[in-house]
Amino acid sequence: MIRMGGTILAALLGLAFGSFLNVCLSRWPEGESVVHPRSHCRHCSHTLAWWENVPLVSWLALRGRCHSCRAWIGWRYPLVELAVGVLWAQQAWGYLSEQSLDLLIFNLHSPERLVFLIGWAIFPWVLTALAVLDAENLWLPDWLTLPGIALGLVCTILRNRRQMELSALSPPPLAPGALYCLYGIFAAAALILLIRWVYWLIRHREGIGLGDAKLMALLAAWLGLPQALLAFGLGVVLGALAAVVLLVVPSARRESETWALSKLPLGTFLCIGGIVSSLWGGHILAAYLRWAGF
Ligand SMILES: [Zn+2]
Repeated sequence: MIRMGGTILAALLGLAFGSFLNVCLSRWPEGESVVHPRSHCRHCSHTLAWWENVPLVSWLALRGRCHSCRAWIGWRYPLVELAVGVLWAQQAWGYLSEQSLDLLIFNLHSPERLVFLIGWAIFPWVLTALAVLDAENLWLPDWLTLPGIALGLVCTILRNRRQMELSALSPPPLAPGALYCLYGIFAAAALILLIRWVYWLIRHREGIGLGDAKLMALLAAWLGLPQALLAFGLGVVLGALAAVVLLVVPSARRESETWALSKLPLGTFLCIGGIVSSLWGGHILAAYLRWAGF
């Protein structure tokens, strides 16, 4: 009962925070404030009434068009709201499976656990943000990726300490855990820098941006190096599939002009790979190791 209620609450909160993220994604690239003015249509500046601003429901009721000027709002709005809602619900469902209400309330009183919980809510929110920013603007801002790496490092150290406590081992001293996590962060970034360097040697121009290196570091900080590498593999496969679609289907190329797909935003595919890896990475890697005979 608590698990179901908590999951529904997390889904509703996720929809609301996804809706706020949509405002940020429209205004950040223009350098506008995300608080002021109130939500409005970006075509006719009509200020939205409360009922035009309900996540998902309003978009469906208005069939994706502005109530005032009928301009197409775009698929991004419901997709982002749905993505954050589903990812938060999924996390709450997993988290509440192992928690009694007493333990949950106790956890919320512990600053360490609170940081951990809030961190794991921010992670999918930031990945969704970066995926859209790179798709629409080929832009992975440092002020999202760099704090994301730091928060990931803190949450991973907290998780490792917690796991040691649960397995009745004494928690490890902070330094080696942090060093191991830092090693993963640098190795993931170095992989991208190496590919970037080789590409430059062969083609004499920039193939992969530095933002992608920071994004890989972010994935390694949150997921660990093996799952970050899985995210990279998935991202490259998805990117290659998108490239094939663009080559084979001419109309897809025309439609993708608003989305910068014709330039293939690697960051978007890395973020999708990262979300898949955070949800099922453990199972995928275990299945792969079994298949490879380890
Ligand atoms: Zn309008």
